Amino acid sequence: MSDDLFEICDEAFRKFVLFGAELECLYTGLQFGEGPVYFADTDVLIWSDIPGNRLMRYVAGQVSVFRSPSNHANGNTRDREGRLLTCEHSGRRVTRTEYDGSITVIADAYRGKKLNSPNDVVVKSDGSIWFTDPYYGILNDQEGVKAPREQRACNVFRVDARDGSIESVADDCEMPNGLAFSLDEQKLYVSDTGFTESSDGARHIRVYDVLDGERLTRSRVFAEVNPGCSDGFRLDSEGFIWTSAGDGVQCLSPDGALLGRIKVPAGVTNLTFGGPLRNRLFMTGPTSLWALYTNRRGALIT
Ligand code: MG
Repeated sequence: MSDDLFEICDEAFRKFVLFGAELECLYTGLQFGEGPVYFADTDVLIWSDIPGNRLMRYVAGQVSVFRSPSNHANGNTRDREGRLLTCEHSGRRVTRTEYDGSITVIADAYRGKKLNSPNDVVVKSDGSIWFTDPYYGILNDQEGVKAPREQRACNVFRVDARDGSIESVADDCEMPNGLAFSLDEQKLYVSDTGFTESSDGARHIRVYDVLDGERLTRSRVFAEVNPGCSDGFRLDSEGFIWTSAGDGVQCLSPDGALLGRIKVPAGVTNLTFGGPLRNRLFMTGPTSLWALYTNRRGALIT
């Protein structure tokens, strides 16, 4: 087992990784990578270069620009019909890319006021769209476009699949960031990266119980993540949580224990499982896109 690449904190993790696996750098030259999403039907990975104001595409070993300008896109996912959903910092909205390439706005305001700057997004099996809304994208002209905050809180929002209405489902995070449902959708994990704005701010993943499929209750801290923070994370097919961190990737058990680390130079901002077998971990770093084959498979929908 390569000590350079893996750190085993719990023996269970030894079986999660592949001896001799190589960390591949697929691309470098990003201003800040984020938001990887994998399309199995076309074997395409899409991800964001936020300050570069572009969405990137990796297919068949080649990298190209998928969309520019991207309105400083950040988190991406697919909905239950396979369409791309994107959080836009400077657009201050969540959009859906239709099959014909046109853009549909999913959410851009709450109670008549502009959103802060949507950060990351996930879709539940009922088609509802859940996303976080911290204000990183309106703090300066690097990550988006500097603008005043109109929302009183940094919410987690839910967009109803039937009527498109938007409701706040949580407002107790300082800077809500990545998010994912547990496999049975009875829990929602949300990372809080408030420490970037305050020295004693949050640096953890919270977990909520999902009530009636559409509300959140019992907010509590699930796991502290350091160094750095959990910017984005995904679950594997058995519910283990693979999160970005300042030293790379950390794998957490469903009860929040740290099982092991994958050390990635300069750290990881977000990740997703991909490849035809969903066993290839694609990781965005500040400047690079990385890939590593694992002995796990990503959850079918994360
Ligand atoms: Mg994020």
